[in-house]
Amino acid sequence: MLVVRKYGGSSVADAEKVFRVAKQILEVQKAGNQVIVVLSAQGKTTDSLIAKAKEINPNASRREMDMLLSTGEQQSVALMAMAIHALGGKAVSLNAMQVGIETTKTYSNARIRTIHRERIDNELERGNVVLVTGFQGVNMLGDITTLGRGGSDTSAVALAAALHADVCEIFTDVDGVYTADPRVVKDARKLDEISYDEMLELASQGAKVLHCRSVEVAKKYNVKLVVRSSITEAPGTVVKEDSKMERMLISGVAADKKVSRISVLGIQDEPGKAFEIFNLMAGENVSVDIILQSTGHDGLQDISFTIGADDLDIALKALEDNKERLTAQEIAHDDNVAKLSIVGAGMATNPGVAALFFEAMYDSGVNIQMISTSEIKITVLISENDIDAAMAAVHDKFQTATVNMRKD
Ligand code: ASP
Ligand code: MG
Repeated sequence: MLVVRKYGGSSVADAEKVFRVAKQILEVQKAGNQVIVVLSAQGKTTDSLIAKAKEINPNASRREMDMLLSTGEQQSVALMAMAIHALGGKAVSLNAMQVGIETTKTYSNARIRTIHRERIDNELERGNVVLVTGFQGVNMLGDITTLGRGGSDTSAVALAAALHADVCEIFTDVDGVYTADPRVVKDARKLDEISYDEMLELASQGAKVLHCRSVEVAKKYNVKLVVRSSITEAPGTVVKEDSKMERMLISGVAADKKVSRISVLGIQDEPGKAFEIFNLMAGENVSVDIILQSTGHDGLQDISFTIGADDLDIALKALEDNKERLTAQEIAHDDNVAKLSIVGAGMATNPGVAALFFEAMYDSGVNIQMISTSEIKITVLISENDIDAAMAAVHDKFQTATVNMRKD
């Protein structure tokens, strides 16, 4: 078999952990497999590199940030190669340039375009474990790019797709995908399996276990994806095309605290205003999530929307600079908001799901500011102060409802 494994930063944080992973990898190889391993930067390396950059220049260019951040992953693969050599095994470390991982131009949020397989194939042929830097690529200018925070998952899945690997295993510090964040919700349960679509919604709604784009790529190329613990080596959660749906009415609850709300108030109620606002956001590379337009009053309207918290400053500046052209009276924002989502393919066929969700919100006295839905997801925007309690209440409500449903 050809196996792609990815280990997150916490799994390779120090020498002892590096050796533990090195031994695991060699065992997989000894069992007769070819092994490609994608690594993240050790522990909090990426965060501390960002802090270092901020000390020197808070407005560092994205190109130089990528140049800096990509070094974290390069350290990991070289150290892992040394550990495997020390154990008597054969391994080679490769960065994105050596492999030929081509990406789009955009620094700090590039997308993988193509992966060349010759070098990797040759190294596997020689009996090496191939250790590849996660999170990075090379753009058409020949510069290093990065794929966005958490992007090593996407590197691993893309490699698995490009090399037609039999499985892509993501090793992390949790033992799989849970129905809710187990640190917040005591009786959150681990899922044995979940569909690509559900995982995609969970990942994009703040469940941090997988990088969102890794799931997109896995779905597109039908990569068998497994999330499991590097410590327990328990079976984990399988992410695949279709999964059996009898467990809960929903498959998970996710919270995302890293959001902000912007309200553009008192705009002339005429065609083209929404286009102008969102065109401005697109121009700044800011992704917009939930959008709410109030009905016109006195020929004026309000448009509110949510964005990632990191983009708030850029977005506000763009709107303020264009306030007059937008005919806006005021641009307001709120940082203290969070999104709570429920996700489940069962939603489409179980009519009571939305009612249960809103009942749980009502029971816990939480006020809802915005709502958005898809076929398999409902998201609400609430105050960040309420998020943990609301997540627990919603999880509890659905667990009870599922138990009762089984009794019927
Ligand atoms: N090291 C990068 C980060 O911390 C990429 C990753 O871990 O996947 O975001
Ligand atoms: Mg991660």
